[in-house]
Order: sequence, then structure tokens, then C-alpha cells
Amino acid sequence: MKLRTLLTVSCWLLISFCIEGKEISLTFDDAPLPGSSVMSGTDKTARIIEGLKSQQVEDALFFVTTGNIRDEKGVARLNAYSQAGFHLGHHSHSHSSLNKLEAKEYLLDFYRAHLMLQNYENVMRLHRFPFLHYGEMLEKRRIVKAGLDELDYQVGYVTVDNFDWYLNGKFLEAHSQKKSINYEKLKEVYISTIWQAIEFYDNIALKSLKQNVKHVLLLHENELAALFIGDLVEHIKRNGWKIISPREAYTDELLAPYKMEYTFNKQGRVAAIAHNKGVDKSSLRSEAENKDYLDDLLKKNEVFK
Ligand SMILES: [Zn+2]
Repeated sequence: MKLRTLLTVSCWLLISFCIEGKEISLTFDDAPLPGSSVMSGTDKTARIIEGLKSQQVEDALFFVTTGNIRDEKGVARLNAYSQAGFHLGHHSHSHSSLNKLEAKEYLLDFYRAHLMLQNYENVMRLHRFPFLHYGEMLEKRRIVKAGLDELDYQVGYVTVDNFDWYLNGKFLEAHSQKKSINYEKLKEVYISTIWQAIEFYDNIALKSLKQNVKHVLLLHENELAALFIGDLVEHIKRNGWKIISPREAYTDELLAPYKMEYTFNKQGRVAAIAHNKGVDKSSLRSEAENKDYLDDLLKKNEVFK
């Protein structure tokens, strides 16, 4: 075998080995978020379902903020996700931070959302803390965890945090100001920054946890997802990753158990465990989770003019 061929084959084998076993599931927070000047809420839901189906994504999880269900259209949007075979999770009623509420107040809000979710199909008993705020004091975390346990809820943690919500805000602002929008560049920025976050948190898993994990990607049920979710999934798959169901992701033996000793939860479960093993917080946040960084990127790419 020629040296060049040998090198090519070796590189290919090395890459295959490194990406083997890479798995990620998709979750969308705050559903049903209202529509905007870009598209109606109903249209947004239809496009997200279409985008996921176009990439043969069989399951995804929509974390519902029940306070966002304002009318029959909101109800219909959640039913559309269930009917498409996707699942719904619990993201509170009022989207309040547990770092600001008393445990009892938080649980009252939690029960209200729990009762409202009884009206829907395909609901998983997973609770995602708004803002990923798990409570700033151990006692508070304990009381709320006991409340979740009583109703058989697990914590719907994430492993890949990112700023898709910030980019979406910038997009809506530019659209309402009637700026000209370069959609191709907008798509590139959306995909590249989320991909950057996926690689960042996966590297922490490999370095600090010393293993591949079943990832949970945090997205929001927003306009950018409606426009580009199919392209994002295609990009992830093109890089050798497999899309798995959230149900499967939440069986990860290392990540799934929520432990009181995790005190740094804001950047997701991989970062929480790495921090618990002694890694400094400053190295557990990806570069793309920074407003100045994203503003520069949008400017450099002339996304809005
Ligand atoms: Zn949220």
C-alpha cells in the first residue's frame, strides 16, 4: 500500500473511531411560544414538525410552559406535536426562577402546570427548571426534589446549553425594524454556534467524565428553529452523530441521576458533573454563550443591514 493511501485510511479510521457512539437528542423549551412579525405561532409549529420529519427525526421533546397556552390555538399546537409522535415535558406554569421563589411557591406553580398537562397525550414526567435554576440553597433544592419525586417526575436536564434564544431575539428585532436579512448567513451563524456548543460540551464529557454520553440539546421553540431545524439536524448527522430520542437520552446511567451534591447546574449536566469533579466554572461555559461574541459574529457576517 502506498504511504499516501495508508495515511488516508489511517486518518479515516481515526476519525471514525472518534465520532463513533456520538448521540444527541433534541429538546425545545417554552412551547408554545407566541408568534411574531416573522410567522404565526401555528405556522411555527407546523414548520418545526416539517423540519424534523424531513430529517426522519422520530422523537423530540417539547418542554411546555403552560402559562404560554393562551387560547385554543396554543392547545392545538401542543396537540400537533403529540400527534406527530413527539413528546411533551413540564417547564412550569409561569417560567419563574427557583433561585427567586420560595420552594413552596415554586411547587404550587409546578402543580398548576402538572394539572394542565393532564389534558394532553404523550406527556413525559420530566421537569426542566426555567433558566436552568435549580435553587441557590441546598434546603430549597431538597424540598423541590421531594415534590418532584412525589409525582414521579425526573429532572429534564440538558447537556448542551447555547444562546439560540439570543440570536432569535436579534433576528426578531431586525425583522421588526425592517432591516434586510441575509438568511443564508443567519442560518450559518445559527448552525455553527450550536455546533460549537455541542463540540464544547462533548469535549468536557470526554476530558472530565472520560466517556461518551447521551447528549440532550437545549433549543427553544422559536422562529430560528422553525426556519433551520432541518438544516441543523442534517449538519449534526453529516458530522457522524446519531439523533436519538429524548426517552433514550434520559437513560444515561452517569448523567440521569440528579444528585444534591451538584451545585453548578446552569450550564447543564455534563458541566455540573465536571464541576463536581473539581473543574473550574470558568472553563465550563462555551465561547458562543456570550452576547458580545454573537453580536460580533452577526456584524462580521453582515447578517442584518
Ligand atoms: Zn425556558
